[in-house]
Amino acid sequence: MERKPLIAGNWKMNLDLDEAVSLVNAIADSISDLPEVDVLVAPPFTALTAVKQAIGNSKILLGAQNMHWEMSGAFTGEISGRMLQEIGCTHIILGHSERRMLFGETSEGIDLKVKSAVALGIVPILCIGETLEQREAGQTFEVIEDQLVASLKNFKAERDMPPSTVLAYEPVWAIGTGLTATPEQAQEVHYFIRKWIENNFDSKLAQQIRILYGGSVKPDNVKELMSEADIDGALVGGASLKSDSFVRLIRFQEM
Ligand code: PEP
Repeated sequence: MERKPLIAGNWKMNLDLDEAVSLVNAIADSISDLPEVDVLVAPPFTALTAVKQAIGNSKILLGAQNMHWEMSGAFTGEISGRMLQEIGCTHIILGHSERRMLFGETSEGIDLKVKSAVALGIVPILCIGETLEQREAGQTFEVIEDQLVASLKNFKAERDMPPSTVLAYEPVWAIGTGLTATPEQAQEVHYFIRKWIENNFDSKLAQQIRILYGGSVKPDNVKELMSEADIDGALVGGASLKSDSFVRLIRFQEM
């Protein structure tokens, strides 16, 4: 089955408002002739409205980097999916390893967020991945399976994961380090994830779900990664902050 590639930029806590708007304008200008790739940017919360305005009629998708699972209430410092939707977000990155490691997020909480996002019609981009110690101890597949089981518990109970759901395999040791998983290392985990979906949901869904790779994706390694059968796109940190490198990633098919 043909899955449309998705190239997503996670801007993390970077770029001021002017920089955010200039970046999205530059991306919009250079992808107007590119219908066969989905492009998404996930700016910090404070830039979402300005970026949404700058996106205008271009096809760039807007995502946020986190949300709370409740719709409203006494949760100081938090933002709900409904609030994000109100300002134009259609996607949400959930369970990024920085949130798991630096802010104590658990797969159980992420499961609630995934469920809440889907209830609102927001597409979750669920991140999973092993640390270097886990990889070196031969625990990669076990860790990935544990994260899938715990973060998709709600879907599994009802067997109702929407086909638009996006999974992102992000080996923690490759994020922001310049170390990239080889295409073979990434492909074997992506294949494992797709098989897990097939075994726990169904084979049609497994063929529909997009699985992104994230971890030091750059213009010089994107083509090789994207040529693997089960890699459907990239979740990009550092290289998404400059129009030049991000546009080259988006246009990987022309390399
Ligand atoms: C990320 O943070 O999701 C990421 C993949 O970062 P980088 O591309 O900088 O490794």
